[in-house]
Amino acid sequence: MNQTHPAFHPRAGTDGDARPRLDVDLQALGDNYERVRAGVAGETAAVVKADAYGLGLEPVARALHARGCRTFFTAFTAEAVSLRGSLPQARIFVLAPLVESEHAALLANDLLPCLFDLAGVDAWCAAAAAAGRGARAALHVETGINRLGMPGAELRALRADRQRSARLDPVLLMSHLACADDPGAAHNEAQRETFEALRALYPGVPASLANSAGTFLGPPYHFDQVRAGICLYGHDPHSAHTAPRVRPVATLSAVLAQVRDLPAGSAVGYGATYRSDRDRRLGVVLAGYADGLARNLYDPARAGGAEFAIEGHRAPLVGRVSMDMCTLDLSAVPGAVCRPGARVEVFGPTIPVEEIAARSGTIAYETLTSVGARVRRRYRDRGQGRATTTGTQ
Ligand SMILES: *Cc1c(COP(=O)(O)O)cnc(C)c1O
Repeated sequence: MNQTHPAFHPRAGTDGDARPRLDVDLQALGDNYERVRAGVAGETAAVVKADAYGLGLEPVARALHARGCRTFFTAFTAEAVSLRGSLPQARIFVLAPLVESEHAALLANDLLPCLFDLAGVDAWCAAAAAAGRGARAALHVETGINRLGMPGAELRALRADRQRSARLDPVLLMSHLACADDPGAAHNEAQRETFEALRALYPGVPASLANSAGTFLGPPYHFDQVRAGICLYGHDPHSAHTAPRVRPVATLSAVLAQVRDLPAGSAVGYGATYRSDRDRRLGVVLAGYADGLARNLYDPARAGGAEFAIEGHRAPLVGRVSMDMCTLDLSAVPGAVCRPGARVEVFGPTIPVEEIAARSGTIAYETLTSVGARVRRRYRDRGQGRATTTGTQ
């Protein structure tokens, strides 16, 4: 007992690099984009904030561009500047611009701010005029989520202000839904009606209301452009109500470093929160909370913690997740697949990302964007038979 299995062989399943890996299927990403686009009459823009939801801004944006996507949204100006380096021709909107301190970067990179107050409108118009440029921008109007957005009264004041209106060149009127992931929420229709009314102020300007979930609410929510984020990355925000309409894109895996047989009564991990009730086979996996695994994935108070998988065989987490590693009970997994160097799936084909998210009390968005910076990203584009790996920072 307590014996160690054959030594870790660095070439088995690890590419000579023992860090966790996020495999991104660019073919599935592109197919998801086309799927969404096929369902809307207007434009399908891609939201690529937060490093394309953790999947990697540059390869994701390039793959979407190759499928015909021409409009992108980032949260921050710095993200948009980086995207501009990859896509010189695309139309890039910044959702959260601070135009006074960032106008030089916005102008120099031909980026479009989503303006959410009159002070921002004035600053942007002044900066653009000083640079001899038109003040092209999106107007982000508030319809019921009360985050960034200009209240309707402010938008009406702006519209009525001849001087301001003459200087500003609005290229998009947008708003954002609060409850679109719940198709039954009355709030959706209330926001849509408010948006319709405000849109009448700018009849010639393209309008955009829907995120992924809003897009799946149907054509009344599509207007001239939808802003698709999470659905491109493989999660259907309505999957609690309907069968998913998109394919998973990302697989997070980590290396099994050690396999040991533990006698009954052995404690595992910090705090000794797990104690084996009988003889168990333990696997030590090289991924932890620094890689985005929630520390509460193992919770002794909750019957049945999270499960990972090896070659399709599920195995429960036992003991606390630590910074760089975690531990699995491999007792029910065939011994032949429990070799050190094997890859353990955290989420992917066997374990849906939604399941891991739910186990730590969150949603796929947070699980994907939590995947840490040291996790290598590997890209596959089956259509072109290429695989590239990045993320050695
Ligand atoms: C993040 C975001 C989106 C995309 O949302 P998904 O739910 O990921 O599709 C669209 N619009 C705005 C304003 C956002 O902040």
